[in-house]
Amino acid sequence: MTTAISPRRSIMDISLYKGGDSTVAGQSNIVKLSSNENPFGPPDAAKDAVARAVHELHRYPSTDHASLRQAIAEVHGLDAARIICGVGSDEIIHFLCQAYIEEGGEVIHTEHGFAMYRISTLANGGTPVEVKERERVTDVDAILAACTDKTRLVFIANPNNPTGTMIGQAEITRLAEGIPPQAILVLDGAYAEYVDGFDAGAAMVEARENVVMTRTFSKIYGLGGLRVGWGYAPTAIIDVLNRVRGPFNLSSPALAAAEAAVRDVDFVARCRAENARCRDWMANALAELGIPSDTSTANFVLARFASEAEANACDDHLRSEGILVRRVAGYNLPNCLRITVGDESACRRTVHAIAQFKAGNV
Ligand SMILES: *Cc1c(COP(=O)(O)O)cnc(C)c1O
Repeated sequence: MTTAISPRRSIMDISLYKGGDSTVAGQSNIVKLSSNENPFGPPDAAKDAVARAVHELHRYPSTDHASLRQAIAEVHGLDAARIICGVGSDEIIHFLCQAYIEEGGEVIHTEHGFAMYRISTLANGGTPVEVKERERVTDVDAILAACTDKTRLVFIANPNNPTGTMIGQAEITRLAEGIPPQAILVLDGAYAEYVDGFDAGAAMVEARENVVMTRTFSKIYGLGGLRVGWGYAPTAIIDVLNRVRGPFNLSSPALAAAEAAVRDVDFVARCRAENARCRDWMANALAELGIPSDTSTANFVLARFASEAEANACDDHLRSEGILVRRVAGYNLPNCLRITVGDESACRRTVHAIAQFKAGNV
């Protein structure tokens, strides 16, 4: 039988998301620096919360996430009514695309922007519009120039992944003020906790009607395996997003772990400090080896090599040493490797292996 079955046209334009590798054949002592995970894992309080939650697995979880939203609101000084929780911030991105992309709608992301913006746009029938950055930094003028009467969403990660760079409050404000009236500016704050004293745009969400902030428990909170993220948005947008959110999108162990984690502010402060120390050490050590990087504000360093061939050869060597980093050719950065900041010993092992590579002793 012949059928006429076909998916929505844009779906086949999606390239499958490729996560960071976690194994190398024949290697047991792996250092995984490929997915920007917290080398210290989750806080003990989150593990204890999961252990307690297993006794109630026969119960459906909360549908309104009131307890987690309250905890987030208290810790960050926000309004719980304007918070929405999702299966990772990926799901918040997905809700936004599902709810706001009209037929023919355009979604702006930057040339080295996070892959999920494009994937979610195409999954929802939208047209991704890729905008140039200026030397690996978000270019507000280029974004504003790319806006049209079809622009529905503008996604920027601040700090950005995989560049590690960020733009300041004045630039963000100029962006929010300059986008067309039917467009929403989405500030992805996946790495916000690594920047001391940074609100990731929360105050702008409260002051305006066209800004949404997304956050995650996958990075500094060390809970990537549980899949919890959240968004902060004007009430009208929260109301829309809740209509497309599944009633039981988050499991009870995930909710319990995230609530315990967000309240552990000492854990976050310790991880932020240790990340900054190891990141700056690693970036300086790489620079001394002739491998520059932009000043990173996140938990990774984007190491720039002389060529794509050199980046790939270095990656091959690291892999042979059991060190997994991320190739970023898919982010239009073929001559770079993104290296997550590990603990001190992982950073030393990585720099040592790269020094060997540079010395030609491989
Ligand atoms: C890691 C990351 C996220 C987090 O995704 P989750 O779905 O919350 O795990 C979001 N945005 C960017 C830019 C990221 O790098």
